[in-house]
Amino acid sequence: MSLLSDDELKRLAPASDLAPLPIPTQVVSSDEFLPVPQTNDQRRVEALLEDYADRHAARNGLSRRNFFRTAAGMATAFLAMNEVFGPFYRVSHAEAASVDLAQQQAQGLSGQFIMDVHTHFLRDDTRLVGFVRAREAVGKAGWNPALVGKEQTLDDLKYPNWFKEIYLDSDTKVALVSGSGSEDPRDWFLTNEMKHAARESVNAAAGTRRCLSHAIFMPGLPGWLDQVDQVIATLKPDSWKGYTVGDNTNKALARHPWRIDDEKLLYPFYEKILKAGQNIVCVHKGLYPPSVERQFPHLTPFATVDDVGRAAKDWPQINFVIYHSAYRWAGGPNAGEGLRQFEQTGRVEWTSDLADIPAKYGVSNVYGDLGQIFAQTTVVEPGLCAALMGILIKGLGADHVVWGTDAVWTGSPQWQIEALRRLEIPEDMRKKYGFAPLGAADGPVKTAIFGQNSARMYRYDVRRAGLDLDKVSVTKREYVRNGPDPSHRRYGYVLKG
Ligand SMILES: [Zn+2]
Repeated sequence: MSLLSDDELKRLAPASDLAPLPIPTQVVSSDEFLPVPQTNDQRRVEALLEDYADRHAARNGLSRRNFFRTAAGMATAFLAMNEVFGPFYRVSHAEAASVDLAQQQAQGLSGQFIMDVHTHFLRDDTRLVGFVRAREAVGKAGWNPALVGKEQTLDDLKYPNWFKEIYLDSDTKVALVSGSGSEDPRDWFLTNEMKHAARESVNAAAGTRRCLSHAIFMPGLPGWLDQVDQVIATLKPDSWKGYTVGDNTNKALARHPWRIDDEKLLYPFYEKILKAGQNIVCVHKGLYPPSVERQFPHLTPFATVDDVGRAAKDWPQINFVIYHSAYRWAGGPNAGEGLRQFEQTGRVEWTSDLADIPAKYGVSNVYGDLGQIFAQTTVVEPGLCAALMGILIKGLGADHVVWGTDAVWTGSPQWQIEALRRLEIPEDMRKKYGFAPLGAADGPVKTAIFGQNSARMYRYDVRRAGLDLDKVSVTKREYVRNGPDPSHRRYGYVLKG
């Protein structure tokens, strides 16, 4: 039995294509979703990184290229960022200088329970090539070292590479397959049946509950509630996912935007899922910068969180998980906009509005997911990233922020995992805004965010899950042992026995 078929293995790009430089050399812009031109600060990070690498690579007996692939190479990137942006990441010179020391520390955290409730791959017959450009842009901007200099294809967005980047290339232990619907049935990322099938096949091969799945609901479309009935009866999704702008992929086609607190349209749906024993509703919000608003101004009111508080109050039994934590400033240059907004007002659209909801409405069933909001800020404007974490934790509680990465749009989530492990809110920011420290990588706040909060929500018993000894763990250990050499790597995907 194999986690991936021979055909699927062949489609995986060999590891030798991975270029090592964790820093951009080129500026690109790819429209609304991920435009990521290199900033001046990033250029300074790049220069510093090259300096360090020249010194450290030779001392470790490595080429610069190979040095950047090591844990010390990753540490070096955070060190360079600290020098340019300020002390946002916990990292020592010793760690950056010694491959062995850095490796030991990374190894020490690799068993951490990480539950990613926001991952994607695309159906085999997808037409959505825009996501290929997104990965290219992320590589060119140097956000994710694993994508730098690596040509991206549609295959990188499909199931085999999703499996590899989530379960083998990262410390993620459990992943939820999400998706997005469209008025055009051809442009659903995955049908609900496909998401269900992925969950079933991963879990059957693993022998454990490694994979969870969303079902998409599209309020207002003809027959949508009948489809909900059908999904409940046949697919038993772990939770539901909706897009209030209606059609996020093809916004020009969006004819059915909706509000979470629409009593007539949505409340019968909540009643239905509760009756079926389901109580998690995930809703995409934010990622709606002015460039998008100019094209689709009529959808802007649906991208904010104005409709969340009342629905949460009316349905205390339901957990409302707001995806992207309603972060508005999608795209690289716009992170700068977000930071300016924070420095001037102490708030960030529309994440601060989300964080205000528990106090304003007296509710405790609203959660924030970190998909994109973290990736788009952490290496571009670490100050904004720290502020957003502070805002969310202060308003929602550390037990109401959940780990989601929106992988694989930005490649394997490992760089994001390492960034949160090291991120700290600087003392002056904590004092000024009343933010609590994030603490150690395995301290209570990050442990909650990385996995505990979602485990509780999804009734996932980590201790009894048997993940340590399942087939994914066996495969991963072999994969790591065999190293990045492609001829060996192939064996890493195949399960024994
Ligand atoms: Zn997503």
